[in-house]
Amino acid sequence: MSRFLDGRLSNLTAYTPGEQPQKLGGIIKLNTNENPYPPSPGVIDALQTESAENLRLYSDPDCKALVEAIAERHGVRPENVFPGNGSDEVLAFCFHGLSPKGAAFPDISYGFYKVFAAMFGVPYREVPLRGDFTVNVEDYAGESGTVYIANPNAPTGICLPLGDIETLLCQNRERLVVVDEAYVEFGGETALPLLARYDNLLIVRTFSKSHSLAGARLGYAIGSAELVSDLNTLKFSFNPYNVNRLSIAAGAAAMRDDVYYADCCGKIAETREYTANKLRALGFTVTESKANFIFAGGNDKISGAEYFDYLRKRYIFVRHFDIPRINNYVRITVGTPNEMETLINVTVQILESIG
Ligand SMILES: *Cc1c(COP(=O)(O)O)cnc(C)c1O
Repeated sequence: MSRFLDGRLSNLTAYTPGEQPQKLGGIIKLNTNENPYPPSPGVIDALQTESAENLRLYSDPDCKALVEAIAERHGVRPENVFPGNGSDEVLAFCFHGLSPKGAAFPDISYGFYKVFAAMFGVPYREVPLRGDFTVNVEDYAGESGTVYIANPNAPTGICLPLGDIETLLCQNRERLVVVDEAYVEFGGETALPLLARYDNLLIVRTFSKSHSLAGARLGYAIGSAELVSDLNTLKFSFNPYNVNRLSIAAGAAAMRDDVYYADCCGKIAETREYTANKLRALGFTVTESKANFIFAGGNDKISGAEYFDYLRKRYIFVRHFDIPRINNYVRITVGTPNEMETLINVTVQILESIG
């Protein structure tokens, strides 16, 4: 630490991203929930049309083409859409500017919530999940800080029913509820229909997982025009050109290729169920994931940390969280059927070699 760092940030523990090998060379990468399928043909076209020459010009600060495509896809108005440089940026704005009375989120959830809270000096409460990793919404009844719920949750993949989201919204109409729907398109239930009735709801989405654009850094929020206007004030006070020209073009095209993406997400959901059942048969406890990953552990023969290490030696990268209650689990991104076949075969070999 230099002597120049603001003392208020000296205890900040940064988010640890999953390992990102820049050359895959035989690695099966199942550690950061990327999509195994390429972006849609429409996206590839759009990127070829968007001329590299134009990169000398700033991007559209209003991201009009992108915002309109997102609005059209979801049947909302452009005033209800806020685009961000990844949903991480959108979430950062929420913690920075939309959590004046603090924040609350499950103790086991997306690790960045805690980091953003610390970064922006937002007091936060981690609300324990039940033993089966489900959310008990009654635990939030007295909470006045902004509530952050990933639905489906990460890294468990478990969904919170829409009725429970509505309970959170009703508990206190003066409290904002941010629903992070990063994984909703793999089988979750979106809170979009609740937007018409609840102006204390903000839905956050990303192109990184369901739309195969993790490297484009693209996310968005959908909410009331007032909330979107506040987010724009924050953005224009920080980085007016937060989405680059290539990503605006790619994102707008992706929103128009629904059929392609629905097909990819469907294939992934199928591969997930197949793989989850294979792992159960091998003695793993596997949660009921509706996301593009599997959360597996609790195997008498092998600990989560060992399983992670053994897979890594066989060039299969998954994610292990050294966090109480889940340190005996690993999170495995759902890849192609071939990749998952290899994962299962290697797992059988690992279990045999230690058995
Ligand atoms: C991956 C993820 C994000 C971040 O997505 P980006 O758009 O790539 O920044 C946000 N929330 C959850 C729950 C995620 O898993």
